[in-house]
Amino acid sequence: MNAAGPAGLRVAVVGAGPAGFYTAGALAALRPDARIDLIERLPTPYGLVRFGVAPDHQDTKKIQGLFEQIALLPQLRFIGNVELGAAVSLAELRAHYDAVVLSCGAPHDAPLDIPGADLPGVYGAAQLVGWYNGHPDHAGLDPRLDHPGAVVIGNGNVAIDIARILSKSPDELASSDIAPYAMARIAQSVPGDVHVVGRRGPVEAKFTTGELGELADLAQAVALADPGEIPATAPDTLPVRDRKVKQKNLDLFHAFAAADPARHARRIRFHFFARPLAILGSERAEGVRFERTRMEDGRAVGTGDTFDLACGLVAYAIGYRPRPFEGLGAVADRLENDEGRIGPGIYVAGWLRRGPSGKIGTNRGDGEQVAARIAAEVAPAGRGGFEALAQLLNARGVRPTGFDDWKRIEAQETARATAGAPRGKVTSVEEMLAICAAG
Ligand code: NAP
Repeated sequence: MNAAGPAGLRVAVVGAGPAGFYTAGALAALRPDARIDLIERLPTPYGLVRFGVAPDHQDTKKIQGLFEQIALLPQLRFIGNVELGAAVSLAELRAHYDAVVLSCGAPHDAPLDIPGADLPGVYGAAQLVGWYNGHPDHAGLDPRLDHPGAVVIGNGNVAIDIARILSKSPDELASSDIAPYAMARIAQSVPGDVHVVGRRGPVEAKFTTGELGELADLAQAVALADPGEIPATAPDTLPVRDRKVKQKNLDLFHAFAAADPARHARRIRFHFFARPLAILGSERAEGVRFERTRMEDGRAVGTGDTFDLACGLVAYAIGYRPRPFEGLGAVADRLENDEGRIGPGIYVAGWLRRGPSGKIGTNRGDGEQVAARIAAEVAPAGRGGFEALAQLLNARGVRPTGFDDWKRIEAQETARATAGAPRGKVTSVEEMLAICAAG
């Protein structure tokens, strides 16, 4: 539906995740004349909320309700199944729209640059989280959980998500929207140790207290830490607010250090001051060699002492990278931009703008700022907008899907949900398109 007049601003927002929805919603409020096309590679909206947020964090996923309201605004059009760079180029979008906002995140894993990282059984967080969240790109990952050891490299909330999901019982996951195949695989996994390893210390770790605290109360796994690695108090050189947060984390680690390892057959073991040197194994991952570190000016420096952890699966959650965009400059984990503007008529929001950090709500301010810039500095130039895009896609044999198609997929997912679960996810694009076609 597009009720706005033909003379209005035409804006394409690429990527229907949190940054895209917040930007589109803010722009719709600021510029009632705008027609905003929210273009998404998959037939499903919501991006990181659907595929990144942990499946047992259903409260966080409730933000989808707000995004649905935005999608149903008369100025908005959801255009699924259209991939930038494949179905349409950035130059073509730019030609047909007054402004293009890139909000398609950072879908790739930052590389784990050590020997053996390409062995089977080694997965980046984007892959493994995508797998248990039913992302069509990763549904076929088939990770083996038949070894009593798993190693998670990284000390951020994604590392915690992975350790927790791998350690939860079927009952604990019953109310989640974990992909059914992942639920079955995790239920059959061999009990043992999930090692979470950080190259720096518990004070430097990026875990938030709420996420860490969840590990204290798992039904079939106990969280453990080495008392020798946990300082009694957070450094008083930290700003007061940071110190309070860090102290809460340290208190949790002290509780983990005092926990009885025999309480459960599954354990989440925190190891600090250890940087990965190599993945061990010939046919597939069999372990990880680490070098102990000491802190120098806030940096982890190798000491030469090494130790190995045996495992059958390695997950590295060490950050994400955007896909490359031809003709646009990138700095490590984001696109070069000036407060959300890349160049004439091209803007960027969310992780692509600021790098992979923050909570879902962090994208709100980002989107509002970019929307305000566009509203203030872009004028309509009589471009073709959706009609021109639709012609181009039609000529290429690309069938875009709409929000009503998504609602059909969603209805199927709701119908497939097992008791207590919000949905049973459809995890292949072919099946999604078949559901759309049947509707
Ligand atoms: P993150 O918080 O930036 O953590 C990345 C971790 O990887 C850090 O511990 C970092 O260590 C480590 N690392 C980086 N390169 C490494 C290397 N080469 N070798 C070993 N370790 C390395 O990233 P994230 O966990 O991917 O999370 C992304 C964002 O999403 C964060 O802002 C996070 O809070 C957010 N998130 C939030 C939730 C939630 O609120 N529930 C859940 C998931 C994610 P150094 O610190 O030493 O660099």
